This record gives sequence, C-alpha cells and structure tokens, in this order.
Amino acid sequence: MAQQFVSDNTAGVCPEAMEAFVRANDAGHELSYGEDSWTQKVCDRIRELFETDAEVFFVFNGTAANSLVLAALCQSYHSVICHDKAHVETDECGAPEFFSGGSKLLTAPGIDGKLTADDIEALATKRTDIHYPKPKAISLTQATEVGTVYSVEEVRAIATMAKRHGLSIHMDGARFANAVATLGVSPAEITWRAGVDVLVFGGTKNGLPVGEAVVFFNKALAEDFAYRVKQAGQLASKMRFISAPWLGLLNDGVWLKYATHANAMARRLYQRIKDLPGATPLFEPQANGVFIELPKAVRDGLRDRGWLFYTFIGEGGCRFMCSWDLLPETVDRLADDIEELCG
Ligand SMILES: *Cc1c(COP(=O)(O)O)cnc(C)c1O
Repeated sequence: MAQQFVSDNTAGVCPEAMEAFVRANDAGHELSYGEDSWTQKVCDRIRELFETDAEVFFVFNGTAANSLVLAALCQSYHSVICHDKAHVETDECGAPEFFSGGSKLLTAPGIDGKLTADDIEALATKRTDIHYPKPKAISLTQATEVGTVYSVEEVRAIATMAKRHGLSIHMDGARFANAVATLGVSPAEITWRAGVDVLVFGGTKNGLPVGEAVVFFNKALAEDFAYRVKQAGQLASKMRFISAPWLGLLNDGVWLKYATHANAMARRLYQRIKDLPGATPLFEPQANGVFIELPKAVRDGLRDRGWLFYTFIGEGGCRFMCSWDLLPETVDRLADDIEELCG
C-alpha cells in the first residue's frame, strides 16, 4: 500500500529497530520472560535517557500499558481524571475500567485537547461524599489526541494540583517522542521532574514493530506490576524481540530523529493547506498530526483519489497523521490534491 495519513501506525519498522531485532535473533538462545541480556540493557538505556532509576516494563500495546498502569494507581472504587478525547476514554474498549475492576473515568473538555489544573480541581472537588468514585489519578496524553503538546509549565501546574488532592499522574506517551522533539527539553524535564509518576513510552508509532515501555518514576507504584502484566497476558516469553528493537531507536537519538521528521512533515502539510479556500485549521500542529476542516466535496474527492484519513473530530474535521518514514513527496502529493479540490 502507498504511504497514507490514516494513522502513524500504518508505517513499517525503522531499519535501526529491524537491525537490532535481527541481531537479537542471531545472538542465539537467551533467557525468557525479560531475564535476557537485551531487556536488561534496554531498561538501563531507558533509565539513562530519563536520568533516573525508574522501573521499566514492556507490554505489547498502548491499550494494555495504559489500562494496567491505571489499574495499578487505582482501587476499583477510585476514579481517573482525563480529557474527554483521551485514548483511555474513547479508544480502549473500556480496558482501564476492566483491568481496574471498575475505576471510573471522569472527563473534562479542555481546549486544544489538554486538561488544565482548573479542570482537575473542579473534578477533584466536585463531590467528596461516599457515593462518588474517589478521584485518585490523572491521565495526560502527550502529545495529545489533537496534535498539541503540554508545556513543562502546564504539566508542572497540573502536578501541583495533583499533589494538593492526592492524585498520581499517568502520562500516555504513545507519541511522547513527537512531544519531546517539539519541546526541545530533556525527557526527564517533561516527565518526573515535572511531577509525572508513570509514563507509557510509545515505541510503535515511533518506528518499532510492536511494544510499549512502561516507565515508573515513582517506584512504589510499580509494586506487583509484573503480576498484572502476566495476568493480563502481556508478558512476552521471548521478550528480547520486544525489547531489543528499542536499542535501535535509543542509539544515537534515532527516536528523536524520526519524531522530528514526522513533526516536520505535519508542518509541511499544514503550511501548504491551512489558508486554502474552504479549509479551517482546528488546532495548531505541534506534533505529527494535522487537524483541519475540509468541505465534503474535498473529502470525497480525496477518498476518490485513494487517500485514507480519519474524520472523527466534529463535522468535516479531517485528521492527517504523519509517520516516521513519510516522504516529503507524499506530503506534497496530498497537498496538491487538496489544493486542486479546494479550487
Ligand atoms: C495509538 C495510541 C495508543 C496505543 O494504542 P494501541 O492500539 O492499544 O497500541 C494509546 N494512546 C494514544 C493517544 C494513541 O494514539
């Protein structure tokens, strides 16, 4: 299939990750269930990257990572504060509620896809009686579902509010690399130094074949997490094939190189189409997605020409996601088509 914009997981595996995968295979037998030397090495590399002694786990996908983390942060009678467009709310088939045994998600409709400290305060103090699920955690998506990015100051403000109300902070970083590339800060600065307790560090959309890393900065919260992973069917016996590809991404800043490229492709598309007649940009692209309203005739015309993209944001709102390997020529072809169709 030709390069597409429907999601950043339509792309394949980056060569660096593939090379590490093959090397792990060529190295012969290894211990299983994460006891292998590759997994140990990647955990150390992640601790180095974040400049702290975090506990690291690997699971197959983002839904498992997010929902198992939220289950670890909450009892069944607790609740999680998140944005109403959060993946945990809209795209995980109730897995956070399922794995936590019933923790309810409390949502707020913050602008630009972001929660604010005020939203959190309002939800955390709305009720304090026994009949309401007690707020216990906050889930932030970085970069957000609408291609924006929380600044360090915004996360810090949220963390201050979280502390005041005894809430821990989970960060869904399916596109963490894209956020870091935009912010230009160290991974530590936008996570634990800003008050984040647990990060789901997404690898799949960044160029891995499969697998997300769960990084507990607050190690007390990681107690028994390994058992949750196993019970959920998320413990890979040949874990080296999930972990080793991370070396390909983490060596020489490859993860940031690809995220920077994907972000640049989104900017390139945005610059070409934002002022076209009939086009209305919905959000300022700060990561690797462009969200823009296009007239129905343009959307239909694009589909007739074979372009795949989502339209789930409001009436006519199109989402164009840019992958790690997207070619500038692909962006230009899409932009040419949109321009022509907009007349
Ligand atoms: C892609 C994505 C995930 C992970 O989804 P899976 O399909 O379960 O791997 C999680 N959060 C966000 C915001 C995503 O975009």
